[in-house]
Amino acid sequence: MTSFIPPGSTLGVLGSGQLGRMFTIAARRLGYRVHVLSPDDDTPTGQVADVEIRADYRDLDAIAEFAQQVAVVTFEFENVPAETAAAAERFAPVRPGGNVLHVTQNRLREKSFLRDVGIPVTPFRAIRSRAALEESLTGLGMPAVLKTADWGYDGKGQAAIRSTSDVDRCWSAFDGQEAILEAFVDFQCEVSVVAARDQAGRFVSYGPVMNSHANHILDVSICPAPVDAKIAQQAVEIAREILSRLEVVGVLCVEFFVTKEGKLLVNELAPRPHNSGHFTIDACTTCQFEQQVRAICGLPLGSTRQHRAAAMANLLGDVWEPGPPRWDALLAHDDVKLHLYGKASARPGRKMGHLTSLADTPDQAAERVIAARQALVAQPTAKHA
Ligand code: AMP
Repeated sequence: MTSFIPPGSTLGVLGSGQLGRMFTIAARRLGYRVHVLSPDDDTPTGQVADVEIRADYRDLDAIAEFAQQVAVVTFEFENVPAETAAAAERFAPVRPGGNVLHVTQNRLREKSFLRDVGIPVTPFRAIRSRAALEESLTGLGMPAVLKTADWGYDGKGQAAIRSTSDVDRCWSAFDGQEAILEAFVDFQCEVSVVAARDQAGRFVSYGPVMNSHANHILDVSICPAPVDAKIAQQAVEIAREILSRLEVVGVLCVEFFVTKEGKLLVNELAPRPHNSGHFTIDACTTCQFEQQVRAICGLPLGSTRQHRAAAMANLLGDVWEPGPPRWDALLAHDDVKLHLYGKASARPGRKMGHLTSLADTPDQAAERVIAARQALVAQPTAKHA
């Protein structure tokens, strides 16, 4: 039976970054209250939530107290310890559940789960010793990508192995941590499907979205992705299968490589709204964050209808490097929406905000967000020098 959490109730979020912020804005628009718990203060989520609690994720007393104040717990940061989800679950449902966190927190568990249920994944091997690394390099061939099994995102904890001379350096950098070795995929493009599933198993999806990365961090997304209709359909069917097998109640993003032969391989899962789904705020009837609210509260999932072709460009801290960003020059661009996350200090590589543009074609939308982002970068005038 679906448990229904009506507007006016209080929702709990673990993690306090931009994803929690946009979730909270969507929840408040629907009349919910939001409590957030994370180890930090004055966070992007805390700034817009009703209550911000500063506590370590391992402080199980604080987690229990937090869970007692809310009707449901969700997360925007999936790397919370399993004990944290279990401690919260004693007092409030955790959606998606601890099993989804368990599978998606570890790249080896994630890829093994996908392979075992018949989903196509990048060829991989488990690496727990140097001997296993050398043997697997012979099996998979080079180049290959070595990734830590735990705590990886945005290319962190990754090293490319191009020849046997890279093995020493990579192995010592990994310092004996459990790792996964993946064949290097010479892909045609990368796409993602952001999807939501409710307690009754109903499923909705966005995309596929085409994603380009710079330094392993998402740079620009466009939707609809310019891929064959058959590939687009397959990507959605794979996402449906994954959400169903994991019994997700909430939002999950599936990231794929499209090989040069037109085959889809799953690269990664994120059990929450995803950077590649930010365009849905401005482009769709129901955005990915509102879907998270609806799914965890037992409300009907909303229409994912996209009004126009869209593009999203991330604003990293690098934009601040030459001097204060030219917000006036950016906002003079028609059809470009600015989203800033309220982060006080800009560091290179730190996600500070994003831009979305709608247009007649995805390429035109991409041109607009890229031009607007370029306009932000301050010219070295006397004023800014
Ligand atoms: P990840 O943190 O695994 O999502 O990796 C970040 C980015 O690195 C991906 O979006 C790809 O652009 C690239 N990458 C990761 N794994 C591979 C691979 N096995 N082959 C080729 N490129 C990869």
